[in-house]
Amino acid sequence: MLANYGFKDGSGDWFLAIDTEKCDGCGDCVPVCPASALEVGEDEYDPFRDEPVAKVKAEHRKKIRYSCAPCQPGYGEKLPPCIAACKPGAISHSDGWKVAYSR
Ligand code: SF4
Ligand code: SF4
Repeated sequence: MLANYGFKDGSGDWFLAIDTEKCDGCGDCVPVCPASALEVGEDEYDPFRDEPVAKVKAEHRKKIRYSCAPCQPGYGEKLPPCIAACKPGAISHSDGWKVAYSR
């Protein structure tokens, strides 16, 4: 499933989405995040899942727009580190970021 972390306000949708079907819990996205916004742990959405999964730390979920702001240089010139590090392609941002990422 798609786990959406973030919020929607008058300026757009500010979500970081993690596809839990693609995420294998490798943890590669955690150390590359300059905001230390990510962690790997128990799947809150699927209590029957045994494997760990990546998620946004609770303290960043209501301010993800600001936590992730440093990773939005030049609108699409460079992938955010978490997305670049994720080999299965499990991480994405919502349209609110106004960034058209391509892998
Ligand atoms: S976009 Fe940047 S700050 Fe946001 S989770 Fe990814 S690496 Fe961390
Ligand atoms: S790098 Fe990708 S597959 Fe690995 S834990 Fe992070 S989101 Fe999951």
